Amino acid sequence: MTIDLRDLEGLETPLYYYDMRLLQQTIDEITTCMSGYPYSTHYAVKANCNPEILKTIAGAGFGADCVSGGEVRAALEAGFPASEISYAGVGKTDAEIRYGIEEGIGSFNAESVEELEIIAEIARKCGRKANVVFRINPDIDAHTHHYITTGIAENKFGIDMRRLDDAIKVVTDNPELNFIGLHFHIGSQITNMEPFELLCDRILQLQAKVEKAGLKVKVINVGGGLGIDYDFPDMHPISDFRHYFEVFKRRLPLRSGQRLLCELGRSLVGQCGSLITRVIYVKRGVEKQFLIVDGGMSDLLRPALYGAHHAIENISAQARGEREQDRYDVVGPICESADVFSKSELMLKSRRGDFVAFRSGGAYGESMASNYNMRNHPGTYYRY
Ligand SMILES: *Cc1c(COP(=O)(O)O)cnc(C)c1O
Repeated sequence: MTIDLRDLEGLETPLYYYDMRLLQQTIDEITTCMSGYPYSTHYAVKANCNPEILKTIAGAGFGADCVSGGEVRAALEAGFPASEISYAGVGKTDAEIRYGIEEGIGSFNAESVEELEIIAEIARKCGRKANVVFRINPDIDAHTHHYITTGIAENKFGIDMRRLDDAIKVVTDNPELNFIGLHFHIGSQITNMEPFELLCDRILQLQAKVEKAGLKVKVINVGGGLGIDYDFPDMHPISDFRHYFEVFKRRLPLRSGQRLLCELGRSLVGQCGSLITRVIYVKRGVEKQFLIVDGGMSDLLRPALYGAHHAIENISAQARGEREQDRYDVVGPICESADVFSKSELMLKSRRGDFVAFRSGGAYGESMASNYNMRNHPGTYYRY
């Protein structure tokens, strides 16, 4: 992505800078890879629910994958058609389920047998039918960070495969439930294709089991999880969607009338955003020096939450042709020891007032921002 220093002068920091051209190029690449196949993308709204981003993605004809009633509302407001909204989440409340039924969303991705029963009960009360998909925990290790792996048996997500028979019984017993397919989501920031390959094999197995019970699988939702290059965002501004979709083209043969959905989040929006901050102080300690910037974990939580590292660039030092480098602990102003972006980061020599960018912040950046320490929500700037 391109960050132009001239765009930044006079803007209040911290702010999220979005390269809308890169977002469009990413959308176009996904569309190209899907074309000719009965594939659709339901964008995972939680990655970034900024209204401009949502509108751009809705405008491309993609659907939305939501995990709360608030996200369903945001998706509808941004122009995603209700029929192209899938709604996952382990703890949907009665009010959220009712809202989804009234709006006629495309599917509830049920994460437990208990939830299926409640959806049936609420649909009955509303006098409506509800499309349901089983979100199944396929017990596949995505070999990613333990906070972002979702598809192994010990975590809270999805229906345990051993309870599939019970789930089938609920849909056959309740005519309000219109079973349409299967859903999986194995984790996030997956850069090796092997977990997706294993997932295909598991899907075919489970599909056979469900069909044997007389249910028809119209939709196979393979979830999201494709990773991005946090180390070299300019070398790989767009993820390897070709390779990703090839896995499904090769390993997951579809029947006629069947549709494959994927729920890309991070790989769609991750590289188009950067958190822009300014240096408040260069603080010299005894053994190290700190670069204290005006953005912190309330603006970009991933380093504190997952120990994630974002590429850090001093844009002002680049612009003045600075050649000397130095090591800094790059930290925010929040009163928490976890408010550290990077330790001993080798950077161009920095000064008070410099603009410092944290790259690859388009996903799980702005959407996770909080008001902790009574701070403002970060600002936004869009480059078209
Ligand atoms: C978070 C989430 C996604 C998106 O994951 P990414 O790693 O951002 O692609 C997709 N599906 C579900 C159900 C999710 O919860």
